[in-house]
Amino acid sequence: MDSKDRIVSLVEEKKDFFTNVSDRVWETPELGFMEYKSAATLMGALEAQGFKVEKGLAGIETAFSGTWGSGKPVIAFLGEFDALPSLSQKAALGTKDPVGPGGNGHGCGHNILGAASMSAATALKDYMSEKGVPGTVIYYGCPAEESGCGKTFMARDGVFDGCDVAITWHPGDTNSIMSGSTLANIHVRFWFTGKAAHAAASPHLGRSALDAAEIMNIGVNFLREHVIPEARIHYAFEDVGGGAPNVVQDSAQLLYFIRAPKNDQVMELYPRVVKCAEGAAHMTETQVRYEIITGLSDYIPNDTLAEVMSDCMQELGPQKFSDEARKVGDEMYATLTPANIRSGIASLSGHMDPAKAPEKVKEKLIADPFPYVKSSYVMPGSTDVGDVSYVVPTVQCGAVTQVIGTPGHSWQVTAQSCSALAHDGLVYGAETMALTGLRLLEKPELIEKAKAEHFRATRGIYNCPIPKEVKPLP
Ligand SMILES: [Zn+2]
Repeated sequence: MDSKDRIVSLVEEKKDFFTNVSDRVWETPELGFMEYKSAATLMGALEAQGFKVEKGLAGIETAFSGTWGSGKPVIAFLGEFDALPSLSQKAALGTKDPVGPGGNGHGCGHNILGAASMSAATALKDYMSEKGVPGTVIYYGCPAEESGCGKTFMARDGVFDGCDVAITWHPGDTNSIMSGSTLANIHVRFWFTGKAAHAAASPHLGRSALDAAEIMNIGVNFLREHVIPEARIHYAFEDVGGGAPNVVQDSAQLLYFIRAPKNDQVMELYPRVVKCAEGAAHMTETQVRYEIITGLSDYIPNDTLAEVMSDCMQELGPQKFSDEARKVGDEMYATLTPANIRSGIASLSGHMDPAKAPEKVKEKLIADPFPYVKSSYVMPGSTDVGDVSYVVPTVQCGAVTQVIGTPGHSWQVTAQSCSALAHDGLVYGAETMALTGLRLLEKPELIEKAKAEHFRATRGIYNCPIPKEVKPLP
C-alpha cells in the first residue's frame, strides 16, 4: 500500500467517529464566542484521539488546540464550529422547516468544517505514529468566524506562531483550491452623545446625536467618490436615540465596516472616515467616541501550498457520493431558484470552460476536482483565515457538501450540513487535507519553498487590524 492509500484508509477507518462529531455539533448550533457545547464536543474528540488539549487560547473560552508529536515541522489544521442566527432547519429536509422558530443553525456548514479538519489532523498523526515520522500536528479550534473574528484575536496573541504551515477547507459546492484573496476589513463603532431637550418647546437647548450620525453618513457617502474603487464602506444604525420624535436624541450609535483589498489600504481609509465623524460632531456640537471593535486581514494565497493541495485532490480523483447523498442532492436541487442555478453556473465558470458550465450544473453534485489556477481576483468578502495567512503560510480547499447553486448562509445549507452528503464531503475534504500534510512531510523542501514565498509576500510583517487593548465580544 502506498502512502496515499494508507492515509486515505486512515481517514475512512474513522469516518463514523468524525461524522458523529459533525452531527453532534450540528445539533447544538451556537453563535460566535458562545460555542460552549460545540467546543466541548470537539475537545472531547481530540482527547479521545490522543491529542493534548489546551483551552482558553488568547483569553477566549471557546478557543482551543490539540497537539500531538514534537519538533519540526509543525503542521496546523484549522477548524471552525460557530453557527448563524435564524437559520435553524431540520436535517436533510428539502422544505424549509426550522427545528425551533428563530433558532440558530449551521447555515455555513462549520460543524462539518471543524470535524473534517480534525479528521485530517488525526489521520496524519496516526500515519506519523505508525511510520515513526517526526513532527508535530496541531488542531486549532477557532471560534466565531462568522462575526467575532476569532482567528484574528488568536493571531494577534501569537497562538499560531511556530507553525510551519496551516491547512484548512470550507464546505461548499465545488472541489477546488482557494485562489486569489479576500477583502481586509475593520469594524468600527461610533458613539455620538448630545443633549436631550423638548423638540418643540426648546429645541435650541438640545444637541442632536442623531443629526450627527446622519451627517457623518452623508459625509462618508460623499467620500466614496474619492476612495479606491475596490473599497467597500457600509454602516448600520445600532442606536437612534429612542423612538420619540418630540425628544432631541442625546445618543446615537453607528457600526461601520471599512473594507479594501489590503490591510494598509483599510488603515489609510480609517482616519478619513473618522474625519467625517469628527466633522459631524463639530457641526452639531455633540461629542463622538470611536473604537475598532474587530477586524480581518486580507487572505494571502500561497501558490506553493495550493499547488501541492491541488495535486493531492487530482491524485484522489473525483469525490464519491453514496446513493443516500445523491437522494439528498436531488431533493435540495429541487428547492433552488433559477437565480440560484445561475449563480451555480457562474461559480462553475470560474473553474472550467464557461460554455460547458450550464450543462455541467445539471449534474447537481459536482464530483470533479478542479485544478488550482493562480488568480489576482479579490473575493468581495472577508475571512479571519486571512489573519492566519499573514503569520503562517496557509492553504484552503473546498469540498462538496452541497448541491451546486446552494445559496450561502441559507436554510438549505443547514439542511445539507447534517446529511449523507455532508458526510461524503467531510471525508473527501479530510482526505485532501491529510494527504497535503503527508506530501509536505515527505518533501520538507516544499515547506521551505512555501515559507520563502510567504516571506516575499509579507516581509515578515503582520499588523493585526485589532488594537492590542480590544477584547473579543460575542
Ligand atoms: Zn463559513
